[in-house]
Amino acid sequence: MNNSLAIKGAGILLGNGSVKNTDILIEDGVISRIGKIGKRADKIIDGKHEGLIAIPGLINTHAHIAMAPLKGMVDGTDLMDFLKTTSDFDARNSKSMVYDSAIVGMAEMIRNGITDFVDFYYSEDVVAKAVDDLNYQGNLAWVVLDKDKTTQDGDPISNAENFIKHNKVKSVKPMVAIQGVYAASKETMEAAYEIAKKHGTKVTMHIAETEYEVKEHKKKHGLRPVEWMHKNGFVNKNLLAVHCVWLDKNEIAMISNAGAVSYNPTSNMKLGSGIAPITEMMDSGASITLGTDSVASNNSLDIISEMKYGSLLQAVRLGNPKAILPKQAFSFATYNAAQFLHHGKSYGLKEGAKADITLIKNGIGAGRSNAINALVYSSSPANIVGTIVNGKVLYYKGFAPKILEKVTTSLKRLEKRERSS
Ligand SMILES: [Zn+2]
Repeated sequence: MNNSLAIKGAGILLGNGSVKNTDILIEDGVISRIGKIGKRADKIIDGKHEGLIAIPGLINTHAHIAMAPLKGMVDGTDLMDFLKTTSDFDARNSKSMVYDSAIVGMAEMIRNGITDFVDFYYSEDVVAKAVDDLNYQGNLAWVVLDKDKTTQDGDPISNAENFIKHNKVKSVKPMVAIQGVYAASKETMEAAYEIAKKHGTKVTMHIAETEYEVKEHKKKHGLRPVEWMHKNGFVNKNLLAVHCVWLDKNEIAMISNAGAVSYNPTSNMKLGSGIAPITEMMDSGASITLGTDSVASNNSLDIISEMKYGSLLQAVRLGNPKAILPKQAFSFATYNAAQFLHHGKSYGLKEGAKADITLIKNGIGAGRSNAINALVYSSSPANIVGTIVNGKVLYYKGFAPKILEKVTTSLKRLEKRERSS
């Protein structure tokens, strides 16, 4: 048998939250069997003696992974000061630094059980190479903004289109990102939507992250950001709307026409931006997913804490402990995100699905009864022992050797640069 992996005797998290003990066989990147496996596989993980629970791979729908060197460097600032610091960083960034930072950022996600992500940055061709070098996968959105506001060389719109046209990394899906209404005119946004339409890619955008953004937009255009986007035809099923903290009632109804919303609770808390009206968006029919944002505003790439804070923050806002149940938070981080990103492609722990699997160690913080509640409220990355992407084991109690080598080299180069700057 070629390229086969068996996880034997692990607990498998089923859709209803229960855990069933059985085997998983993966062949050529696809789950070919769930149930007792008689035959041998090329590689075997002993789930029974290790006390493992297999869950569908966690998905991060908003990150800027090449900002890894800014971890711990931009603490205690609001969004406007934050953007000034990060844009100064971008201005002196180089391609080799983007590559090394992307490797380090992805390593953190792989370590934390994240099997797929949406990145929002420039130089995504360089990030794509890093994705390929780690055997990872990603949805890489090249950011566009007005020419007079960018630190990119050349025109961001042609840069984004060139990336989409020339990407050859199979596990990378190119997308278009729009920085925000504060940095992109109607013409820039139209051009961004046009290239997305032409090449059949998705669009993602920071929307209504701060009250300041909403007030300034209303002053200039007479409409709030989502009202303005809706009026101009920018809110559609192709859009992954990030943040959506400051929406009024009408805008909550409008945003349900987006493909999905990326809720970034930690980043919103840290920057003091506010609490997104997630339950109201869900009531209006929006599909909620979870994002970490960058390590400058988080400061971790950990979806377990996003599930927990995402749920607790809504309980605080509404005075209602049932506002977001663990099962709903888990769906945000898995099925909802997969539905937007994979579109019909089979996802989850079932035969025929793509083998994107996160392995959790049973024990303190990750029980078998109420496994989802234990995962969302009592776990941390310390409970994650395995990350399998497209059937390849990228992490199991440590990084795969090839990945470890790349990460060590990139970390050394970044440290050297830091010492010499
Ligand atoms: Zn962001």
